[in-house]
Amino acid sequence: MGAAGRSMPGAVRPGMDQKMDNMKNLKPSVYNETINEGDKTYLYNFYSGAIVEMEGGAQLEAAGVSMQDAALLKEKGFLVDKNIDELKRLEFSYLSGKFNKSSLGLTLCTTLECNFSCPYCYEGKSRTGSAMSPEVITKILEFVRMKLKDNNINTLYVNFLGGEALLRLDVLSAVLAGLKAEAARKNVVLVAGLVTNGYLLDEAMKVIDMPGDIQSVQVTFDGFGVSHDKMRRLAGGIGSFERIFANMVLALEKGVRVAARYNLTGDNATDATLLIDKLAGLEKKPLLYFGHVSAVGSADTCKSVSCMSRMDYSKADLKLARYAASKGVKTDFMPVGKGNYCTADAVNGFTIDPEGDIYKCWSSVGRKELACGSVLVAAPEECITDESRYYMYTMDNPFQDTCASCKLLPICMGGCPVERQAGGRQCSKFKFQDMEFIKLYTEGVLR
Ligand code: SF4
Ligand code: SF4
Repeated sequence: MGAAGRSMPGAVRPGMDQKMDNMKNLKPSVYNETINEGDKTYLYNFYSGAIVEMEGGAQLEAAGVSMQDAALLKEKGFLVDKNIDELKRLEFSYLSGKFNKSSLGLTLCTTLECNFSCPYCYEGKSRTGSAMSPEVITKILEFVRMKLKDNNINTLYVNFLGGEALLRLDVLSAVLAGLKAEAARKNVVLVAGLVTNGYLLDEAMKVIDMPGDIQSVQVTFDGFGVSHDKMRRLAGGIGSFERIFANMVLALEKGVRVAARYNLTGDNATDATLLIDKLAGLEKKPLLYFGHVSAVGSADTCKSVSCMSRMDYSKADLKLARYAASKGVKTDFMPVGKGNYCTADAVNGFTIDPEGDIYKCWSSVGRKELACGSVLVAAPEECITDESRYYMYTMDNPFQDTCASCKLLPICMGGCPVERQAGGRQCSKFKFQDMEFIKLYTEGVLR
């Protein structure tokens, strides 16, 4: 038997002196999944992320394995103590993430102006002149200072979002400088990321220290070449693919961590292989992932593009992940364990728009009826003015519905809270991929 955890690839074998005193007090984890692949049988555990090959296709029974193997299986989470309630343990870890106050997470929409006119944009048209004023910036920094008074906070996570944040480098630079000063004052680590369409990244890197001050960047592709340009064009109709690709390469060469999001729709799925081919030729590569284009909340997204069902998206994602693996391009093909879901369901997660309105989720930006407060209306301690909107996503809990019995809960945590509150459920793509990631992993294409 050989076992591997996600963070510890490769075979691990138990020491011969390991002993299990209470084998009879162990039971198989409810998060185990068995995968048969040819003459091999693997076990995967959705809670621990460990993979083990069972020799001879053996079934996992605590009573049927040697002491050494039982010790290893317990260490990797395949066997658990009989008295453990795994669901409670998972909920505890979920709630710990949700109520974790060792960090502050901000998504800042410094401007809603945009140089593109993508037909499906949930934010609607570019809003000229909609950038944070000096007054809003000052109030945001006061809000941050108030939050950082809590000495338990050791990290300030900031994600810059738009519109297109790089259209207003003056605003972005001012906010960043202020946050750096606040973080330095309290000896807190500042971790910053940027979501950009990538068009102005080259210019931005002349002004902003990347990866010094902004360590990670996400750029988006909507296709390859012409199919991308059809969607992501400048307001005057000029395409953007070549420039975005070149800017992404520039960022990678500077040591910026880059995630390349490919918005997968029924129209551009086949073109994704062309992007993978091009990425394969790069010395430094981004992490590629395929975004499911769907109507978050009540957006009209799917009126302009052919959105796929969650299942079709998941199948297409798997096919592309396999192709990418064969080309040496990394994707998010393996599940990752989750604490809480996102900033929206975390007590210390806030999105702030150019007018200083505070939201729990970026998808609500611009819809004042969903704002839970404002940095402008009050003293920093009183910025949250609508508690029910603050609680709406923060108190969302997948353990209180049918997700509680789902084996994928440790890696999914019930999906996007906005979708859940809207009555839908965005199941993890892994639910529809027949555990194929195990095959990809064991094929070892990326190792
Ligand atoms: S609630 Fe949904 S859309 Fe909003 S940040 Fe979380 S995952 Fe994203
Ligand atoms: S959203 Fe779907 S995949 Fe996720 S935990 Fe719930 S039932 Fe499982």
